Amino acid sequence: MSKHVSVLDQYPDYALNIGIEVHVQLTTASKIFCATANGGGTTPNSCICIVCAGYPGVLPVLNKNVPNLAILAGLATNCQITRRSIFARKHYFYPDLPKGYQVTQADEPICTQGYIPIVLEDGSIKKIRLIRIHIEEDAGKNIHAAGTNESFVDLNRAGTPLLEIVSYPDIESTYEAKAYLKALHQIVRYIGVCTGNMDEGAFRADTNISVRKKDATEMGTRCELKNINSFKFIGDAVEYEIERQIDMLESGQKIVQQTRLWDTQQKVTRAMRSKEEAADYRYFPEPDLPILEIDDAWIERMRAQLPELPFAKAQRLVQEGLSAYEADIIVDDKDLADYYEAARALTGSKQLVNWILRDLLGYLKEHKMDLAQCCMTPTYMAHLMDLLDKGVINAAAAKEVFAAVAATGQHPDDVVKEKGLQQIGSVDELEAIVKATIAAYPEQVAQYRSGKDKMFGFFVGQVMKDTKGKGNPAIINDLLKKNL
Ligand SMILES: [Zn+2]
Repeated sequence: MSKHVSVLDQYPDYALNIGIEVHVQLTTASKIFCATANGGGTTPNSCICIVCAGYPGVLPVLNKNVPNLAILAGLATNCQITRRSIFARKHYFYPDLPKGYQVTQADEPICTQGYIPIVLEDGSIKKIRLIRIHIEEDAGKNIHAAGTNESFVDLNRAGTPLLEIVSYPDIESTYEAKAYLKALHQIVRYIGVCTGNMDEGAFRADTNISVRKKDATEMGTRCELKNINSFKFIGDAVEYEIERQIDMLESGQKIVQQTRLWDTQQKVTRAMRSKEEAADYRYFPEPDLPILEIDDAWIERMRAQLPELPFAKAQRLVQEGLSAYEADIIVDDKDLADYYEAARALTGSKQLVNWILRDLLGYLKEHKMDLAQCCMTPTYMAHLMDLLDKGVINAAAAKEVFAAVAATGQHPDDVVKEKGLQQIGSVDELEAIVKATIAAYPEQVAQYRSGKDKMFGFFVGQVMKDTKGKGNPAIINDLLKKNL
């Protein structure tokens, strides 16, 4: 892997610390404290009830699937699961939070002290430690109508269950920040707790960045980049922020702790507000919810549901012969990984991964299609590889078969038969054609024998023509060399 260039390379005296908080929307059927559908409602405020709309006097009831998914996420990230965790109220005023507080967890979060492994540029493994994972509810949305002074409140999102996953500031480069986020993004999708859809806000990262002189014992003052919704933007924003903070320090200015936004147009970060301290929120235990008690049996029940995790899968695929690059692409999408493994179970062909990465992904991209919509099933793909490996068809014919199967769902054998793509593969058959060709062009044979090597290509072309492109090129080459 090539070294990723960072602005930090230009400042060898400086070091970087990044801690990331990720908010993950959980895929439960209903919201966290009421029976209202989770994620429903295309028209504003069409998917709310008196609980999630924050009417006074209503009582929350915890959706049991929320701790289920939180435990799953904790186990998948090597956390300890807290046996008695407590909900808390975090107070702040915002129009999209009618209760005036958010129900979250403060002192006793459901998961603590985990880690997520990432692969560094030199191939070594680094564990990014997690401080905690806690459960909380999402707020609604304020909508500021363009070109007017009006603002609106949509509470459809209010009460959506969230996990907040908080890392230690162990991340020391832009590369590591992106690798960490991608790893976490893969995990939550693999275990099925979150769709991972960043455009829809299902996976939102707040990135805390601070720079310091390498020999400084204390970390620098941090700035938080809020809610950036793509890995690329996060990388760009981190790079910008490294340079901004170092420039300030170099010119003798003091960095103020604040929350900043990434301006995708101007490609700069802008101050949004000075960062609140925890004391500003006046946390206290939520009196309307009982202590959440989790026993060993519950934890083991969730552990039994854990699939093979992406990091382990990628390592296994590399052991089984894929390159790190190939394994990375295959593992990044669970559906693609499942596809690969289903086909792999049916064929030993070395060409399989190539055909999946090049032809299958190329086809999906070209036709703007999901894997599930494509008629080239893992079974057909494996069979196509076998046809190719056994020399029944050549590579050019395999491409034709691929395209036909992907479009129609026909069996590869039927396509081969229908289109007459079967290779003329037997040596006897081909040798007869080779001999006939040589006999038909005595002049060219004489030229070749007198040292015109490039005449060889002429004979290959003639034989391929006589076999209507269905001859095995390797065998034809051998036979021509033998007979000329
Ligand atoms: Zn509700």
